[in-house]
Amino acid sequence: MAQENTVQDGMVVTLDYSLTVDGEVIDHSGDSGPIEFLQGEGQIVPGLERALYGMAVGDSKQLTVTAAEGYGELDEESYAEIPREEFTSEIPLEIGVELQLRDQDGDVFNAYIEEVGDDMVLMNFNHPLAGKELLFSVTVSGLRPATKEELEHGHVHGGHHHHE
Ligand code: ZN
Repeated sequence: MAQENTVQDGMVVTLDYSLTVDGEVIDHSGDSGPIEFLQGEGQIVPGLERALYGMAVGDSKQLTVTAAEGYGELDEESYAEIPREEFTSEIPLEIGVELQLRDQDGDVFNAYIEEVGDDMVLMNFNHPLAGKELLFSVTVSGLRPATKEELEHGHVHGGHHHHE
């Protein structure tokens, strides 16, 4: 049985965090609020989820997560050159612009403009944090056992969570 006073599978964890990448804080719960997730369901990056086991409310930790245990290594195959004329004139063709592209099957992919050439635009389909080492500073600010329904669904039921 899960101990109800520490982070274990099947517990709903509320986590305050800051995320530093390349020496810069790129995300922290002071801006967006703490995250809430069901431990053991892979809802956060694997290296962070693993480090949380056994922590109690009020415990803090700093940890470094490798790219492989974070958002994955950069995949050299996950780039595509697309002819410039396929972009409508409303799309700003600038490096770093994020676009949603649809393939023949109708699946939507997020991609970033990596390079803009005279005829071709190089799109990067990697996650923006792929290949990056992640430095997390975390504090467990809440902990409760998941409800039976949450366990069946594999996610947290929040107050404003739309659910079908
Ligand atoms: Zn649900």
